[in-house]
Amino acid sequence: MAKSALITGLTGQDGSYLAELLLDKGYDVYGLVRRSSSSSFGRINHFANKIHVISGDLLDQFSLMDAIDQAQPDEIYNLASQSYVPLSWTQPALTAEYTAIGVSRLLEAIRRCKPDARFYQASSSEVFGQPDESPQTERTAFRPRNPYGVAKAYAHWMTINYRQKYDLYACCGITYTHESPRRGAEFVFRKITRGAVKIKLGLAKELKLGNLDALRDWCHAEDVVNAMWMMLQQNKPDDFIIASGETHSVKELVDCAFSYVGLNWQDYVSVDPQFYRPDEPVTLAGCVDKIKARIQWQPKYSFADLVESMVEHELKDLTDGGA
Ligand code: GDP
Repeated sequence: MAKSALITGLTGQDGSYLAELLLDKGYDVYGLVRRSSSSSFGRINHFANKIHVISGDLLDQFSLMDAIDQAQPDEIYNLASQSYVPLSWTQPALTAEYTAIGVSRLLEAIRRCKPDARFYQASSSEVFGQPDESPQTERTAFRPRNPYGVAKAYAHWMTINYRQKYDLYACCGITYTHESPRRGAEFVFRKITRGAVKIKLGLAKELKLGNLDALRDWCHAEDVVNAMWMMLQQNKPDDFIIASGETHSVKELVDCAFSYVGLNWQDYVSVDPQFYRPDEPVTLAGCVDKIKARIQWQPKYSFADLVESMVEHELKDLTDGGA
């Protein structure tokens, strides 16, 4: 019989890639979707008819229990959260309701309705905030610096506590920045790849950026969701950092994207203080020794592949009439 999986956050970047991966593997895929007046199906329209959409909300305990009763999932992936860091400062309590307490509700629902289901919790490198060391490992202390990071730290420890107390198969994957054509255009990776292509096509004249020396650890979202799935196929539940293990500067990214379309970035890029961050974190870089050694995961996309695939996507999108 086909395995079944329930994904929260189905309509987000990671939820949509994970659903496609699980469909390819023959899973019966259920997605929990929050009822809203506007459609949020942009990322999943092309396969929406192949999955089961269940209406529910991390704020509502009974809706989670009903969703699990209906899906009878072998695997549950919690990818839903209030994930926009600046908003976590203006709505800290709501962020905690979704990103922290929502996970308590989900763990309780699993414990009561389907305790043999395997559970993946999306932890984030934001739990490290201002870390004591770089690269960070699974043992690096959490020092979150915003309400989103604090909420993710709570969810992380609740997941581990439910594993220890109730023997649930529950794991946390600590992901770093991950990108794809389905990522919002305001994030720097898409801003740069799309910006370079617009200039190449004569649709823009310049690109204004913030701190070119900022360092990040960038992965492709497809690689990240594959790691999530692999984590739930192991004999024992465990927590892992999911990252590329490499850091690159924004300047390297600019250079790579502009070179790919045959332009010299210095002719088009200027630095604008409005894009500087007041509290730029120290380098966030994940140590991937554990995930490579224990579950033999490694990303398929190199940094250059990621740039290439994003630029190719923008070239296609913008020549097909995108804006
Ligand atoms: P984050 O990892 O969630 O902060 O993702 P972003 O893609 O928004 O930012 C990545 C890094 O790029 C940060 O260190 C920013 O300071 C830096 N950066 C430099 N210029 C820009 C810009 O114009 N926009 C954004 N969003 N980030 C920029």
